[in-house]
Amino acid sequence: MVTAGHASTKPRDGVSSLAGRWPFLAQRRLLVAYISVIVLLDLAAILLFGAATEVRLPDVLTFVALMSCGAVCIEATRRLGMPAGVSRDLLSAWWLPVALLLPPVYALFAPIVLQVLLQVRVRATVLHRRVLSAAAIGLAGCVASVVFHRLVPDPRVLSHGSAVPIMYAVAAALLFALINTALVAVAAHTADPDSRWREVLWNRESILLDVVELCLGITVAIGSHLNLMLLVFALPPVVLLQRSLLHAQLQAAARTDAKTGLLNAAAWQREADTEIVRARRTGQTLALLIIDIDHFKRVNDVHGHLAGDQVLVGVAGMLRSQVREYDVVGRFGGEEFVVLLPGADLPEARRVAERLRTRIGRMAVPADEAMITVTVSAGVALMSVHGDDLIELLAAADLALYRAKELGRNRICIPAVPSPPPRLPGEAPA
Ligand code: GH3
Ligand code: MG
Ligand code: MG
Repeated sequence: MVTAGHASTKPRDGVSSLAGRWPFLAQRRLLVAYISVIVLLDLAAILLFGAATEVRLPDVLTFVALMSCGAVCIEATRRLGMPAGVSRDLLSAWWLPVALLLPPVYALFAPIVLQVLLQVRVRATVLHRRVLSAAAIGLAGCVASVVFHRLVPDPRVLSHGSAVPIMYAVAAALLFALINTALVAVAAHTADPDSRWREVLWNRESILLDVVELCLGITVAIGSHLNLMLLVFALPPVVLLQRSLLHAQLQAAARTDAKTGLLNAAAWQREADTEIVRARRTGQTLALLIIDIDHFKRVNDVHGHLAGDQVLVGVAGMLRSQVREYDVVGRFGGEEFVVLLPGADLPEARRVAERLRTRIGRMAVPADEAMITVTVSAGVALMSVHGDDLIELLAAADLALYRAKELGRNRICIPAVPSPPPRLPGEAPA
């Protein structure tokens, strides 16, 4: 299931002291309005469906059993922690059966129970993100539940194994995933309009995860309808899957620089090393750029560290958007970035570096009372010409960067290639 994560979102300009105490109010107006509408819709649905639902003991028992499984899952993975950003879990395995088997009001309550547990037991994150997650999942579950009950008035037929009700369950599960993803993605994009839709909607793993969740949810629904005790057999594999999923997400987070979202220095070096080995094997060209923001200390001194951070985010975004998908971009440290360009020769590397320099120079980052502009200097090094491995290439590019700074900044330099030793009389040309 997709939940709104813990990544910091950009606060609205002119944050008041009230907003300081209530981080929700410090968000962009559009985001505050969006979350308010979703939560109000959720509350209205709870009232509407709550009033129309007759409380039956078997329903309550099924609800408690499924929520207990969810609680066990959360407890069993709690020690691993939770990665930042929009995160994924497999809790749908428990609230999808709630939506399919029970009246819609239970689908509205289920995420409230589990989000409270996540908040108390796993990580106390900003409250409005938890509330948004609970409301988004609740509404998605409620719509799926209403649609499924329209198509299959008696969900008991699910456990008879006939194809049609199972197909309807699959359709309801798809609807559930679609609505939930859309509701969270709109919030993530409203919080950070610079983010690409593709990034907030899907990553490479998410379609597979949606399929796994769908399969788990439907299997658990059928099993628990046959006999609630069968949940005991469903629990261990779901816990194991959830643990490995979290592990993979934490691993990805450990590769990323939290401030800019680029690769951090260690991860960049690993990827760059791999590319260099590949280039050497295939005989392809490869270039490396080191890019350093000019007089960045002044930006901090004049506008403050937070504005400085926004400049770093802006420069990182510009770097990522101006190079190809397979170029390797990282934050090397402080205000220094590195870009590896597999397949690029010297003219192309210079062209890319020049484009990055001019684009960043034209970029304006809004600060409290001004627009901040910065320039960058860059050093370019080419594989086999300025160095044969990563260390040599970095050293050569760094030297070129040093020269760019010396020559007045806001420029690109390449290392001076040592001239070949003079030929001795009678020696053949190299
Ligand atoms: P030059 O043109 O020679 O590169 O000058 P510079 O001021 O950019 O370089 P210097 O090395 O003197 O200063 C780098 C500054 O970058 C100092 C440091 O406080 C700041 N810095 C490093 N990391 C961060 C960060 O994560 N956020 C912010 N806001 N500032 C940072
Ligand atoms: Mg600098
Ligand atoms: Mg520097």
